[in-house]
Amino acid sequence: MSRILFFVLLALAIYLVWRMLQKKQLPREGDPGVPRLAMVSCATCGLHIPHNEALLQDERYFCCEEHRRTAPPADK
Ligand SMILES: [Zn+2]
Repeated sequence: MSRILFFVLLALAIYLVWRMLQKKQLPREGDPGVPRLAMVSCATCGLHIPHNEALLQDERYFCCEEHRRTAPPADK
């Protein structure tokens, strides 16, 4: 009888470890170490692009090099 209990506990332990590994593979928003991807809009065409892919100039964001070049100067 104790042998059955041992295998039940072993199966439960394997299941719990498996679930922990599954959770680790799915990054959730708000988790530390998983920064939320901020979206910014291009100052020329208004296209929304991820912050890390945007080109920054004069505190404005652009989707591509061409829009950055052709943008009118920022009024200050
Ligand atoms: Zn653009």
